[in-house]
Amino acid sequence: MAGHRGYLSIVDPDKPLFERSTITCGHCQKVVFVKPGTASTVYLIPIRPKDEHDLVVIGQFIEEPGAFCRVCMRAICLTCCDTGTCRTWEQMIEAMEQKPTPPPVLVDPSGRPLR
Ligand SMILES: [Zn+2]
Ligand SMILES: [Zn+2]
Repeated sequence: MAGHRGYLSIVDPDKPLFERSTITCGHCQKVVFVKPGTASTVYLIPIRPKDEHDLVVIGQFIEEPGAFCRVCMRAICLTCCDTGTCRTWEQMIEAMEQKPTPPPVLVDPSGRPLR
């Protein structure tokens, strides 16, 4: 990152406000648009086009009530809210890093398993 100091502090005043109003899901790290001024209680979900000709909905959003995990006290995306369990990003990383350790195999001097 050396030599790039200051790059991230550039603020584009022409950017629409809603583009800067995002939260990061506390579980899967997905970025969710939030309605400005609602303290992240209303999410803006992009409308998915039905097919490639359905251009009307591009750039449009549906307002959905936001989701908040009371276990880890973080705002979460609606997908994670649907799963109904608390699984934070840190826990997922931990689970990925922890390779299952095989149980020790006890062998007798001739190499045969004892159990
Ligand atoms: Zn999520
Ligand atoms: Zn949680």
